[in-house]
Amino acid sequence: MSSRRRQVYEGKAKILYEGPEPGTLIQYFKDDATAFNAQKKGTINGKGVINNRISEHVFTRLAHIGIPTHFIRRLNMREQLVRQVEIIPIEVIVRNVAAGSLTKRLGIEEGEPLPHTLIEYCYKDDALGDPFISEEEIACFNWASHEEMQDISSMAIRINDFMCGMFAAIGIRLIDFKLEFGRIWDGDFARTILADEISPDGCRLWDIATGEKLDKDRFRRDLGGEEQAYQEVARRLGLLQEDNGTPGEVFDMSAHRGRLRSGKPKK
Ligand code: C5P
Repeated sequence: MSSRRRQVYEGKAKILYEGPEPGTLIQYFKDDATAFNAQKKGTINGKGVINNRISEHVFTRLAHIGIPTHFIRRLNMREQLVRQVEIIPIEVIVRNVAAGSLTKRLGIEEGEPLPHTLIEYCYKDDALGDPFISEEEIACFNWASHEEMQDISSMAIRINDFMCGMFAAIGIRLIDFKLEFGRIWDGDFARTILADEISPDGCRLWDIATGEKLDKDRFRRDLGGEEQAYQEVARRLGLLQEDNGTPGEVFDMSAHRGRLRSGKPKK
């Protein structure tokens, strides 16, 4: 369906096509994975299908607690209909436990619980490697207004509280994650809403009991088993059929046909 539509943007993990109505877009989830500002590239088989489903689930549940989001509905295995927004050029990082760039930058040991939730901001610019920025810089360069930053930080805290509980209930510790927000214009007034996706691509998720990583760090650090890790998150969220091990609702027809063509049995 999307191949007939006009492509608006292609990112590292997603493609945006124009939507069926003005003000809408179709967000297509690819299997492509990148890390370290795209210096490392690869694919995680079936990732797009799983992330589409996980992100649908999380955005729907966030909408239930009153977080405005761009998500309208899932269209098929790899696509969802979303509201078109003007993306605010800031990556919002929420941290509960020290990991990743925080440990490198400040020499803190990975796994150290933080005394309180940290919110950090990075400037969305691939050429610059998404550098860390201060709130003063955000105001100085007018990347977001003071009111927008207040909305963003209060939504980020609410999203974090909700997601910590949601993942804890399925035996997963939410270490950190990234959010992106966008503007919807209504005349001169802009409303801030949650955009992009929430999936194991942009979250660190550790098994509570074993500490096993169930997120993109498996790919970043060459740990292997990334497909199984993403599936495990979806399974625990109740998004896969468990009886025969086949991914029920997230069954990917194109991958299935590919396997049939290549003569490989379905996993
Ligand atoms: O790399 P860093 O430790 O700063 O990442 C913090 C969190 O934000 C991680 O969960 C990571 O997956 C996410 N992130 C992201 N996209 C980026 C930077 C970070 O999804 N460009």
